Amino acid sequence: MKLVVENVGFEIGGKKILSDVNYSFAEGKRTAIIGPNGAGKSTLLKIICLLNEKFFGKVTLDGEDIKTLGRKKISQVMAILPQEKENPADLTVRQLTFFGRFPHRKIFGGETKEDIEEVERALKITRMKEFENRQVSTLSGGERQRAWLAMTLAQNPKILLLDEPTTYLDISHQLEVMEIVSGLNKNFGMEIIMVLHDINHVRIYCDEVVVIKNHEIFAAGEPEKILTAETVEKIFEVKADTFINSQGKKIIMPTSVLKK
Ligand code: ADP
Ligand code: MG
Repeated sequence: MKLVVENVGFEIGGKKILSDVNYSFAEGKRTAIIGPNGAGKSTLLKIICLLNEKFFGKVTLDGEDIKTLGRKKISQVMAILPQEKENPADLTVRQLTFFGRFPHRKIFGGETKEDIEEVERALKITRMKEFENRQVSTLSGGERQRAWLAMTLAQNPKILLLDEPTTYLDISHQLEVMEIVSGLNKNFGMEIIMVLHDINHVRIYCDEVVVIKNHEIFAAGEPEKILTAETVEKIFEVKADTFINSQGKKIIMPTSVLKK
């Protein structure tokens, strides 16, 4: 779907949180949003899916204003995995996954065949089927993140928004999440917009990158072009070097904080 952000801004108590953001997301692609802590990345993600409605400017989906479309319509096509998630007490993985079906439910409707199929599909893709009857609170970090991902997938979104999906995970579980997400894009054409911190994940797993710094877009485009050692130094104020890995790919390595 065509998602376009026009002159978007957001303020709290006179403090600028985002200003003058203009961006046309690449349809059906994987886009990363990166930038320092507090830059406004999560705020932008929440604006896009109408979790934050008090923004200035305009966001359109296939040419229609998202404020006119409203929360229910938006949640039928967009799902978000937020940065902070409350641990659902006494819920099994399967019950949590079913929550993803709410936007598609009729007010007094029960579970439909489609609900069950989507839940099964989400559990399978995230490899959570074997954990379906486990309490979410008993899962490891990697399993828990996959359970939340199953819930967002059961929503069967056309656009999937992920806010730091790999934070707190070890290296192998980080890559596992990136592979699952890339598979969703490749196999189902799901459009992905995700906030990431790892520059090399962006370079390997994303088609586009939007850099947010000081509450506005600092740079945007192809990761290989945007995320060079030189620009990484400017974005994060660190010293960075370039290495070539065993597959001949350039890897950017931040090595120290630049003295101010
Ligand atoms: P990021 O995700 O890039 O780390 P956020 O979008 O979460 O940044 O936040 C950007 C800035 O806005 C931060 O300085 C944060 O403290 C501030 N902010 C976000 N939400 C609120 C809020 N509800 N009240 C006050 N300040 C907020
Ligand atoms: Mg954030």
